[in-house]
Amino acid sequence: MTGKRLLGRLTALAVLALFLVWIFPRVKNLLRIVGLYREPPPMSLPVPVQGIERYQLADTWGGARSEGRRHEGIDIFARRGTPVIASTHGVIVRKGLNRLGGRVVGVLGPGGWYHYYAHLDEWSVLGIGDWVEAGMVLGYVGDSGNAKGTPTHLHYGVYVDGAARNPYPLLNPLPPPRPPARGPSGSPRRRPGARRRSAAASR
Ligand SMILES: [Zn+2]
Repeated sequence: MTGKRLLGRLTALAVLALFLVWIFPRVKNLLRIVGLYREPPPMSLPVPVQGIERYQLADTWGGARSEGRRHEGIDIFARRGTPVIASTHGVIVRKGLNRLGGRVVGVLGPGGWYHYYAHLDEWSVLGIGDWVEAGMVLGYVGDSGNAKGTPTHLHYGVYVDGAARNPYPLLNPLPPPRPPARGPSGSPRRRPGARRRSAAASR
């Protein structure tokens, strides 16, 4: 009787152990996602195409597109095959094909912001559920989707609570705001649009 009971307990423990092994990575991923939502959203982002500098970018946000759409992102032109790199850390939540974007990757990043990379020529080895750090390769610049036959580029979009946000100002960040108490120290790297950003940052 006691022997049977012991066997029953051991079996239950074994089942529990297997369950924990199965659930641990899933819980870990879930906790990471919860953690991302609790992180503050980024104040600035690196250009997500290797070797492309900020000054090479053009703000084409809101430009007219086919089917009456507006441009919900920025096009970053580069040679076919240039690595597309994650602009933030986060979790890959999308990797697949769609009609407009072609080969696309979606990353959930800090603040719950969704980062969308489209028109890829190819994906990297990373897949859905994988954790990425900023700078990791997500894929390669191409012209897939409705960009077929146009100059190869990355379409990069940022969505906050499902609404598209212009990534351009974030990709052209200003020097960090200085506390006024330190006195006037004219920033030589100030650019147009500086006032609005630093005003927003000091809020
Ligand atoms: Zn675009």
